[in-house]
Amino acid sequence: MVNDYRTVLVAIDCSEDSSRILARAAAVAGKDATLHLIHVIEPLALAYGADIPMDISDLQTTLMERAHNSALSHAEHFAIPAERVHVELGSIEKTIQGKADQLAADLIVVGCHTRTGLALLLGSTARGLVPGAHCDVLAVKVDPQP
Ligand code: AMP
Repeated sequence: MVNDYRTVLVAIDCSEDSSRILARAAAVAGKDATLHLIHVIEPLALAYGADIPMDISDLQTTLMERAHNSALSHAEHFAIPAERVHVELGSIEKTIQGKADQLAADLIVVGCHTRTGLALLLGSTARGLVPGAHCDVLAVKVDPQP
């Protein structure tokens, strides 16, 4: 069977769910498509407000380095070369969409947790991605197995 997808971008938060999401993305990509991985770091100033009373640039650099190593180690298990591993600073959904556009990806793969109660109000990353995405979005259910 010929695979329709040529360029697949898989987004991971580097949690323990990431292997399942990567495995699904690799299966969908098959051998015909090129698989890219993205992990986004939210700027500390964005997450905690711009008026933190200390210089956080060193901390941000350390976080980026650690995230890069973690993303590379996940990628290695799925034979994704380092040049296709993207660790970027920014807001999660916009940065994933921007990278998908830049790569002309035709599929974005993300994990998706079932939400209940108050968490429903916050919405999921997958749901936030769909309106601004210019390609298909595959949400891989990553709830614990019953
Ligand atoms: P959620 O259901 O909102 O918890 O979404 C979790 C999924 O969103 C993860 O499995 C990833 O696919 C994606 N995601 C969440 N945070 C990030 C991040 N910092 N970088 C890349 N993808 C992320």
